[in-house]
Amino acid sequence: MADTFEMMAAMGISREVYEYGSKALKSLEKRFKKIDEIAEYNQAKVLLAMQKNRVSAACFAGTTGYGYDDVGRDTLERVYADTFHTEAALVRPQITCGTHALAVALSANLRPGDELLSVNGAPYDTLQEVIGIRPGPCSLAENGVSYRQVDLKRNGRFDFKKIEKAINDKTALVAVQRSKGYDERPSFSVKEIAELTAFVKRVKSGLKVMVDNCYGEFTELYEPSDFGADMVVGSLIKNPGGGLASVGGYICGTAECVERCGYRLSAPGLGREVGANLGIIREMFQGFFLAPTVTAAAEKGAIFAAKLYDPLGFKCIPAASEERHDIIQAVELGSEKAMLAFCKGIQLAAPVDSYVTPLPWDMPGYEDKVIMAAGAFVQGASIELSADGPIRPPYAVYFQGGLTWAHAKLGILMSLQKMKDAGIPGTEKIGQEL
Ligand SMILES: *Cc1c(COP(=O)(O)O)cnc(C)c1O
Repeated sequence: MADTFEMMAAMGISREVYEYGSKALKSLEKRFKKIDEIAEYNQAKVLLAMQKNRVSAACFAGTTGYGYDDVGRDTLERVYADTFHTEAALVRPQITCGTHALAVALSANLRPGDELLSVNGAPYDTLQEVIGIRPGPCSLAENGVSYRQVDLKRNGRFDFKKIEKAINDKTALVAVQRSKGYDERPSFSVKEIAELTAFVKRVKSGLKVMVDNCYGEFTELYEPSDFGADMVVGSLIKNPGGGLASVGGYICGTAECVERCGYRLSAPGLGREVGANLGIIREMFQGFFLAPTVTAAAEKGAIFAAKLYDPLGFKCIPAASEERHDIIQAVELGSEKAMLAFCKGIQLAAPVDSYVTPLPWDMPGYEDKVIMAAGAFVQGASIELSADGPIRPPYAVYFQGGLTWAHAKLGILMSLQKMKDAGIPGTEKIGQEL
């Protein structure tokens, strides 16, 4: 009888590594069941939104040119709005990536003289040039928007006292990042973001709250928009694209905020009326339909990775037993050499470009060199199995994605195999009684 190990062995995974993985898996059954329950709830949520908005084959027709009266685009936006329980949504292939979506949301809703307040310390690397923390052309700073940030407390939680002090006459928008990104802090739960939202609105009514929702979508029963966030923003080549969307970003929020985003994205006067779907709208619907289960697969992979790496002495954030609020798994590997080996393994397990070796490079928008393993169908799609990280201490890789759980598992085993093959300290414990 053929067994799974034979197939794994054909790919270069040793008996020891395979069995180490199998053992780890046994203890994760309960955890995985809970993830499946969340996926089931979110599947129904998306389905309900699709049915309510009468998604039909006519919605999948491609449009060109101005894209006036694009039924597919308008319906998809209502499906997003109903899923995130917001008044409106902007979901388009013309939004090129998550950073673009965030830049649109910020610049559309901040005017000269306004101040932006980030409450989780420095925001995601690519946003620093958008804001002007690192100077560059066309930043918010250049357009007269000032910026302030409040660092998190040492335990990684919001510093409410300092946030209250930082809010002033000029403060117009509070930005919060749900996922840890390239930081070593815990990701925020929807509940924590809900508390933060209520708090800042008590301090100053009319203050807008924007959540960078990247990687968090569908990991919980609720989204930050269920609890008063004015905008939730993300990328379609992460969770909500379900691996099928080949490009795009979304902004879901109040009618007022989203309308302004439409004007910023296209042009004043035109707004959301223009923007052809270019024949790729069906994949955006279908990807959104798959997103809850694809997100669940990625989450299982993340937990499995922590379960494997933690006992070998590599710090994992979050730990395998901790609650999760996104699909990112940070593993501190301690050296550049280990990062290279880990990423080599992830790349080797990919369906696309499995034969290339990832090397660190100067990626636009990032300050340090970044290494990135991604053998994805969609370039850079991090809902697909991928690992990346800036080459700086503590040499953490951020592992995420996997369109299927089986693939995520295989990739993680392969990463461990390559670490072991490279003789990375810690991996000698594989096969010993831990
Ligand atoms: C990925 C990400 C972004 C930026 O999205 P891109 O699609 O890479 O431009 C912003 N914030 C967070 C937290 C992210 O994970």
